[in-house]
Amino acid sequence: MQENQHQIQNVIWSELTPDEFRKRLAEAPIAYLPLGTLEFHGEHMPLGADGIQPTEFFKEVASEIGGIVLPALFLGPDRVETVNGNEYYGKDNGNHPSLDKQYYEPQILTGSAYWIPNEVFILILKGILKQLKRQGFKIVVAHGHGPSTHQLINHASEWEKEFGIRIFNLWGTGNDDWNGFMSDHGAMLETSVIMKYRPELVQMDKLPEDSNIWPVGIRGYDPRVYGSTQRGEEIVGINKSRILESLTAALNEIRDHF
Ligand SMILES: [Zn+2]
Repeated sequence: MQENQHQIQNVIWSELTPDEFRKRLAEAPIAYLPLGTLEFHGEHMPLGADGIQPTEFFKEVASEIGGIVLPALFLGPDRVETVNGNEYYGKDNGNHPSLDKQYYEPQILTGSAYWIPNEVFILILKGILKQLKRQGFKIVVAHGHGPSTHQLINHASEWEKEFGIRIFNLWGTGNDDWNGFMSDHGAMLETSVIMKYRPELVQMDKLPEDSNIWPVGIRGYDPRVYGSTQRGEEIVGINKSRILESLTAALNEIRDHF
């Protein structure tokens, strides 16, 4: 264990010395930004699931192709609705038109405390991009909480021009519901990825045993039926080869310019 830990490269921004930082930046000018939240993801999952998944994934990618992993943001946007005078954020409101079997009453889900308006989130992202450019990064990979990732996707081409930096996310052009990275909410995809990286944080016995009862706050394929460490390995493997291919091409383009 001890030996292994020494072999793993340190890719965490906050843990690098300036000299280690300069070397990693010169080798591959890629910054990774995990878009986290503190949000209810089902009774079986940790509240920080959205930050944990991209942080662990990005650590693996950075160890393979290079780059530096930023701390996860825990604030992000989401839909907000007022029902009978109460404000509900994101998954608080279970009334999703396309998923009537997964309906639940609007409620303040335990542990969700992450919301900021779109405009504030956009200002934060632009502030981070400006600082990353200033440090010399040429590529940013950001991914995580769905509404945060969507804001990034919506503004990517505008910000690429403004900051002269390439911007990637893990969905690329499509959001794949069987293999997508964080394409569901506390269901098969997210549960399996947490089971792969942090199995001790998943408590499947907290979900109803009766598979006819849909667990509150979960969206996607039933994690009780399809969730597993093996599934997590597959999801990570597929998404890792996709992003490594994109990053290899982007790095080659940058290097061709020198
Ligand atoms: Zn999530």
